Amino acid sequence: MDNRYDKGKLARDAQENQYFDVPWIKDLAEIIVADLVKWSNDEIYTSLGGRLECELPFDEAVNASAIVSPSNAANPRIEIFMGLVREIYRDSFTFPLLANQISNSPDYGDPLKSEFSNTPAFFEGGVPDIPESQYTEIYKSIKNRIEEEGVYSDIPENALACRFLMFEVMLTWVFFHELSHLVQRHYLFRSGTATSNNFEVVYHEVSSDEPIGEDCLASQAREVLADVEGSELTIRYLLRKKRFHFSSIYLLFCAQYCMFNRFYKAHESNLKLVKGDHPHPVIRNEMTSQFVSEWLVLCLGNMEGAVERDQIIRSVAYLNVKSSLISGVFWGNRYEKMDGSLTSFMKLSTGEYVQERDEYYALLKRSMLEQLKTIKRHHMHKHNFTDFMGHIAFLS
Ligand SMILES: [Zn+2]
Repeated sequence: MDNRYDKGKLARDAQENQYFDVPWIKDLAEIIVADLVKWSNDEIYTSLGGRLECELPFDEAVNASAIVSPSNAANPRIEIFMGLVREIYRDSFTFPLLANQISNSPDYGDPLKSEFSNTPAFFEGGVPDIPESQYTEIYKSIKNRIEEEGVYSDIPENALACRFLMFEVMLTWVFFHELSHLVQRHYLFRSGTATSNNFEVVYHEVSSDEPIGEDCLASQAREVLADVEGSELTIRYLLRKKRFHFSSIYLLFCAQYCMFNRFYKAHESNLKLVKGDHPHPVIRNEMTSQFVSEWLVLCLGNMEGAVERDQIIRSVAYLNVKSSLISGVFWGNRYEKMDGSLTSFMKLSTGEYVQERDEYYALLKRSMLEQLKTIKRHHMHKHNFTDFMGHIAFLS
């Protein structure tokens, strides 16, 4: 595997850690997670006679897990380790300021301006304005204290609001990805476990336990299905919280991109090797972004007073492309050796690799369609993403 990471940049994480108050970050995360667990139980598990639990263990592991006993599927558990929550906070904390620097740098500027400046989603800089209506409950609750104590007095208010919105969106996406493993009953596909009693099936997001052969492809396909439903549930969350707005959609794209870059650490800098239980993050990003874009166009198109369909499509395309550019360079600045202006992750997303991506995509698509037949029959949530799969082009 290429040594694409810059040791000096990686070491910065350890220095920064001394400034992160992890118990405080845990308190913030628990406010968000408590709401997500409540919604999951009200919407899904209570009517099944069960209860979902979610824990945030104090553990350095940058990992999350979904845990279920097949004989007791209505009482599952999600674990999001504080090692991962701290990284989510770190990304959210650093992203707004660095994104603006990247956007103002002569190396990058805003190459999309000439083509997209007339779309409703267009904004100058690396992050959009966050209107007060988009402020998260957490930011609203600590805003006064931050101002009184003069903490972060050198940081613009918009960057602060953006940090907390991105933190919430990224953590919510992780939670819903794990929930999707559970409600899609992925344990049904694990050979030898479907009929076992008192046997816990654990899905780790980062695992050294690698499946082989066809199991590997099927497992990777289920990861994309969890990504897709996780994203769909996150968009529903934004709608529910009245935070469905171009600014939060942009941050959702950025959050996903950062998350896939984080998981890229364990993968080759090429797309030829289809191995492991998680797909290559470049493929995960491409497939999830395609789904999210189509789902957004469908949602926005159905909204009263929405802008014209052509403008919706152009806005979503703009947010998708801009988030990839800014988040990609952000990641490179934070962690990677940069050979030119693109990271290796970004290079694998260019036209040069379109054939490799298409071949990988086709293999996963076949497996996803096959497994979707079972998932649709056994899904634990009566209103779920399979309801509208026929209304968008994704997987068609
Ligand atoms: Zn997963």
